Amino acid sequence: MGCGNCVRACLTGALQLVGGKAKLVDEELCDGFGSCIAACPHDAIRLELRRVKRFNWEVLRRISFNELMAKLRFTGAGGMS
Ligand code: SF4
Repeated sequence: MGCGNCVRACLTGALQLVGGKAKLVDEELCDGFGSCIAACPHDAIRLELRRVKRFNWEVLRRISFNELMAKLRFTGAGGMS
C-alpha cells in the first residue's frame, strides 16, 4: 500500500493512488516539476521523458498561491517554514 506522499505533493492532480499504488492518471496534467519524486520516502518514482499532446496550462490557474506554497513546503522545496 502506497503512503500517498507523492499524490499529496503533486501540484496538478496528475497522480492518484490506484489499487494502493501511485499512478499517473493524466499525462496532460503532469508538469514534470518532480515534487512527487522529492516527496517519496522510498525513491520509487522516476521521471520519464515522453512526448505528450500538450500540457494542460489551465490546471495551474486553478491552484491558489496558498495551495502551491503548502505543497512546496510538503516536499521540502518551499524554503524555511
Ligand atoms: S511512490 Fe513513493 S510517495 Fe508515492 S505512494 Fe509509493 S512510496 Fe509513497
